[in-house]
This record gives sequence, structure tokens and C-alpha cells, in this order.
Amino acid sequence: MTVLVTGGAGYIGSHTVLALVESGASVVVIDNLSTGFSTALPEGVPLFIGDAADENLVEGVIAAHGVTSIIHFAGSVVVPDSMRDPLAYYRNNTMTTRNLLNAAIKGQVKNFIFSSTAAVYGNPEQMPVPEIAPTRPLSPYGSSKLMTEIMLHDVATAHELNYVVLRYFNVAGADPQARIGLQTAGATHLLKIAVEAATGQRAKIDVFGTDYPTPDGSCIRDFIHVSDLAQAHLAALSYLNQGGTSVTLNCGYGRGYSVLETIEAVRRVSGRNFAVQMSPRRSGDIMTMIADTTRIGATLDWTPRYDDLDTIAAHALAWEEKLLQDRLANRQDAVPA
Ligand code: UDP
Repeated sequence: MTVLVTGGAGYIGSHTVLALVESGASVVVIDNLSTGFSTALPEGVPLFIGDAADENLVEGVIAAHGVTSIIHFAGSVVVPDSMRDPLAYYRNNTMTTRNLLNAAIKGQVKNFIFSSTAAVYGNPEQMPVPEIAPTRPLSPYGSSKLMTEIMLHDVATAHELNYVVLRYFNVAGADPQARIGLQTAGATHLLKIAVEAATGQRAKIDVFGTDYPTPDGSCIRDFIHVSDLAQAHLAALSYLNQGGTSVTLNCGYGRGYSVLETIEAVRRVSGRNFAVQMSPRRSGDIMTMIADTTRIGATLDWTPRYDDLDTIAAHALAWEEKLLQDRLANRQDAVPA
């Protein structure tokens, strides 16, 4: 009954591994450490440093550890990068999953949970957006994830495999005890940038667009705490283990906050009044993105614990302060005596 987590050393993957370990599950991780950190894994979790596309590696791990379920995070996640280099995204996301699924079928894996994204919807007409909304991704990133969803559906039809596709909305925050968090260099996510500004690592934060037809003119997003999202994966696993059929679920709270409200929350919890600059719209941004959560609520036994913007901001800030302290300590260690 071991769970194989690909990309388990990354941001969402490591929070899910932690939640699995805390629930008593047996876990193994495959991660090529291209963006992940082995230090993000709890002690004792076997880590195979390699690619989820490496069928020999995956087949070996499945056989050696008795893997019955796979949670697949490994992949590339930067939308503008996908515009510059689409084929890298079709390789790292779509083709990798094809190989992984081939190994999973050969190894008779029964359950597969896939990290998808709200980016598959493109610019939805209906808000909050339900899972049945048309999928019209606006980036190769979104397309590479949608192609994987289609592939997964076909594979599950042909073989004895059930899946849960989780379409993530805006994932933010960090482990409430600040053991792990987002540490990828150069992250562009709003809350990460805001806590970098609050900790003095940036002179200011830009608000990309204040002329949208929203109450305060800035974009609106449905932020979900990464630890709640991790628990959604555990709930999806229980659902499949109890005989649940394949399903696609939005993962958000079903509530939107504007960019300006989000920055204000970081100012409030940090008590620091960093500079905020009103800037032109960022190309490709969707005005409002909020999940319709009816289906996830009806399907999974999942109750979010951190559905509160100030809590998400506070946890993101505490983690950022810890990262900063660690970095300063390392720098001091590096100074010759
Ligand atoms: N955003 C911003 N300033 C920043 C980073 C992001 O105003 O420094 C805005 C961005 O334009 C979007 C929202 O915050 O409207 C969320 O962006 P993010 O990159 O976090 O996630 P996305 O929704 O694009 O996946």
C-alpha cells in the first residue's frame, strides 16, 4: 500500500509527503531535484533522485516498494517559460506522464492522482468556474496539463486504473509550523513577492493592472493554503481506496480576493508598510479566477482548515522569515575566520 510521490521534494509535493507521513502512510519519492530540495522531505522517506519519465526507475520503485498509488506532481509550472519553450513543457509535463503511466500500468498501480491546474480553463465565461466549463488553455503550460488529463482518461478507460485530477487554483502559504514552504528561486507568485517585500528583500511590489472591471480594479484570485491542498490529496487517495470512480475536481475555496486585498493582508500581518506600485496589466492575466467547489465538496471528505487570507499570508511570511534567517546564517558561516 505504498504511495509513490513524483516531485515530492517540490513545494506542493513536499507538503503532501509530510501530510502522508503524518497520517501513517508508507511513502516513496522520485524527484530529479531540478526545482525541489531533498531537505524538504521528512526524515526516513526514501528519495530516488531521477526522472518520473524514466520507466525503468519507476518500474523498479513500484516493484521494490509495493506501490499501489501514485501522486504525480513532477513537472514544469512557469507559464511565461512555457510560452518561450513550449516543447519543454510538452516533454516535462505531457510526455513524462505518458512514460509514468506506462510504468504504472505495467506495475498494476490502481490509483493515480494528478496535479492539474485552473489554467486548463483559459478565460472562463462562467464564474465561479465549474469543472464542466469548456477547457481552452491560453498557454502551453495549460495545454500540456490538459493533454495529460485527456491521456489519463483514455488510460483509465482501457486499464484497471482510477484517477483523481485535481485542478489547483492559486496555491499559497506554507506549513503552519514553518518546517517547509516555497523556496524555488525567482518565484513570481503574488503572495511570495509580497512577503519578499515585507521582509525587505524587494524595494516594492507592482500591482499588475488597476483598471479591471472589479470592485478595486485589480485581478481576483482564489487562494488555497498549501497544507489544505495537501490534505485534499489524502482525501482523494481515501476516495479511490474506497472504490471511488475517476473524477476531475477543482481545488480552491470558492472565494476570491483581489490583488490589492492580498497585499493589504501581508501588510497587516507583517505590520510593515512596504511600497506598492500601481503598474500596467501583465499580459495573459485573467481578470477573475474562482473555483466552483460544489463537486469537490460532494466527492471528498475534505474540510479546509486555513480558509482565511490573513492566515495564509501569516504562514507565507513566517516561512519567508525563516528562509531569510537561514540564508543569513549560511552567509555568516561562509565568512573566513
Ligand atoms: N500579481 C501582481 N504583482 C506581482 C505578482 C502577481 O500584481 O508581483 C498579480 C498577477 O498579475 C495576477 C495575480 O497577482 O493578477 C496572481 O498572479 P500569480 O502569478 O500569483 O498567479 P496566476 O493567477 O497568474 O497563476
